Amino acid sequence: MLELTPLPYAEDALAPHISAETLAFHYGKHHKGYVDKTNELVDGTDLDNLSLVPLIRRIADDRSKKTLFNNAAQVWNHDFYWRSMTPRGGGKPQGALAEKMDGELGGYDKFRKRFKEAAIGQFGSGYCWLVVGDTGRLEIYGSPNAETPVASNDEVPLLTVDLWEHAYYLDRRNERDAYIDVFFDHLVDWDFAAANLASAASLDIRQTMPAK
Ligand code: MN
Repeated sequence: MLELTPLPYAEDALAPHISAETLAFHYGKHHKGYVDKTNELVDGTDLDNLSLVPLIRRIADDRSKKTLFNNAAQVWNHDFYWRSMTPRGGGKPQGALAEKMDGELGGYDKFRKRFKEAAIGQFGSGYCWLVVGDTGRLEIYGSPNAETPVASNDEVPLLTVDLWEHAYYLDRRNERDAYIDVFFDHLVDWDFAAANLASAASLDIRQTMPAK
């Protein structure tokens, strides 16, 4: 059985950038709904003793388990999205992540422009990701629906933005671009991304990096 992970801050902590009403529905209804549905679908099967990431990886390529995959992946994606934000977030990364961004993406401003283009360009529902890819370099991409980088161990996610309309419609209506700006101006938790980068550095994936 999966538990609904507590939000890492109060439901009104991201206001006025993301309202308490949005978080009440997004966390309390949508995220909780994915947890409940996942538990319902694994109950009584040989999958119900798996923790979340092993479950996602076990069924990622099984078309008969698509509904379960979508719900389980959404549980993980939301846990990761909440932690990609903090009430006192925003601004630019520091340290090793900033250096990597400078070297591989041409700096923060170019990163932000590319991320915003990928987020706006993602057709329909999904997420926009900053990851360390299988080459060891930073990559930005949009993904549809519930797709998640943890379905394989090829890349290490650093940060995500939920692009489903339930993430921003109550506050921003159709203005996804304004929501992305608010995310980077006021909410993004670069310490979380830096910690993920540090964990990526200890994985095999980085041994394939070209020497500088
Ligand atoms: Mn969502």
